[in-house]
Amino acid sequence: MSDTDKQTLADKLYRTKYEPDPGHPHVELDEAKLKSARTRKVLKICPAEVYTRDPNDPDKVSVSHENCLECGTCRQAGEDEGVEWKFPEGGKGVKYRYG
Ligand code: SF4
Repeated sequence: MSDTDKQTLADKLYRTKYEPDPGHPHVELDEAKLKSARTRKVLKICPAEVYTRDPNDPDKVSVSHENCLECGTCRQAGEDEGVEWKFPEGGKGVKYRYG
């Protein structure tokens, strides 16, 4: 097993830096759709675990914008499922430190 295989998601996300854009979140969720089974699946596909359900209230979802890798997966899969995703304004969002 290589060192890369042993890394946790947090280790991997440490390689990125996120420039916030206060007051302009690039991901917004339609609360009314969070109970939908399809939306629940969409939120699970994020490779960076940006979406976290409250263990005490599964209808509440927190969004960790700073972990977003801007891969666009949730944008494609969640277009009609209550996920409104847009690229952050220029100069904001993810910065890759190693490439
Ligand atoms: Fe997750 Fe990719 Fe969507 Fe960002 S763009 S929230 S990393 S699935």
